[in-house]
Amino acid sequence: MGPTVYFVIPCYNEEEVLPETVRRLTEKLDSMRAGGLANEKSRMLLVDDGSRDRTWEIISGLNRENPYVEGVKLAHNRGHQNALLCGLMTAKEYCDCAISLDADLQDDVDALDKFVEKHLEGCDVVYGVRNKRETDTWFKRTTAEGFYKVMKLLGVDIVFNHADYRLMSKRALQGLSEYKEVNLFLRGIVPLIGYRSDYVYYDRHERFAGESKYPLKKMISFALDGITSFSVKPLKLISNFGILISILSIFGLLYALISYFAGLAVSGWTAIVCSIWLLGGLQMLCLGVVGGYIGKIYSEVKARPRYRVEEHLRNTENPLDKGK
Ligand code: UDP
Ligand code: MG
Repeated sequence: MGPTVYFVIPCYNEEEVLPETVRRLTEKLDSMRAGGLANEKSRMLLVDDGSRDRTWEIISGLNRENPYVEGVKLAHNRGHQNALLCGLMTAKEYCDCAISLDADLQDDVDALDKFVEKHLEGCDVVYGVRNKRETDTWFKRTTAEGFYKVMKLLGVDIVFNHADYRLMSKRALQGLSEYKEVNLFLRGIVPLIGYRSDYVYYDRHERFAGESKYPLKKMISFALDGITSFSVKPLKLISNFGILISILSIFGLLYALISYFAGLAVSGWTAIVCSIWLLGGLQMLCLGVVGGYIGKIYSEVKARPRYRVEEHLRNTENPLDKGK
């Protein structure tokens, strides 16, 4: 008799991978039950994030034939982080611990046992950390590394090379439910919850089928969300920068006055034009950063719901009774 483990899997247009993912996870749950790492109430919860393909049909079909499969259908596409949050908050009601993983089998299924073992040793949060990122392109690797470095520089506590493959205990999930922010960046929030945590190292695989739902544009906006939701340092940097420029301009002014009184002709057209462009650009940049934060405040103040559940398929059949 192990704990009630829930696998939480956000799915957006994943019709190609779902049957295989569910097959692999069914095997895993069977073996975990046999090994005392999960009990018969353990399930996998597939969250359909408003897919446009047959994802929900597949989930409901699997729910009928496989006693492990439960499903939640969101009313519309809310993005990976919100779909994941919905899954975790739903699982919180039934589980002892929930493990979030991607639908595309990039997160190593064989590492799942280790998460639960760490949980049984007393950890409330277990982070999956990628050993190497060989399966990612050079571009994704470099930009990801840059992102972690910036986060560190800004004093944000996030786990290096950890995506959203992680185990959370019931009370950690309870802790998570107390964070009401609309601009969701789970990797930043989870370390803030506290409690004992540990790491599981795993090799990241290639996507099993289909294509990435994180194009460059989404990736950049996700990274910016992470930075601006967890640090106001950029705002401070801007004011420091403003002070520096003002001090420099006093020297510039002095220099201009001295040259004027010394009778040196001011042939400074180039300098003027350059500084106007430079400062204009910097001002726009700074305004953009400030605007970004104001936009965030705007969406937080409105506090719109982060997701809406359209359908919830439970499964109370005991997997042991299957086929009897
Ligand atoms: N996903 C989602 N909603 C979205 C985009 C993605 O639920 O709007 C899910 C997707 O189905 C997958 C996970 O989030 O299970 C990670 O997406 P993906 O594998 O495409 O990202 P990558 O691994 O390429 O960063
Ligand atoms: Mg993926």
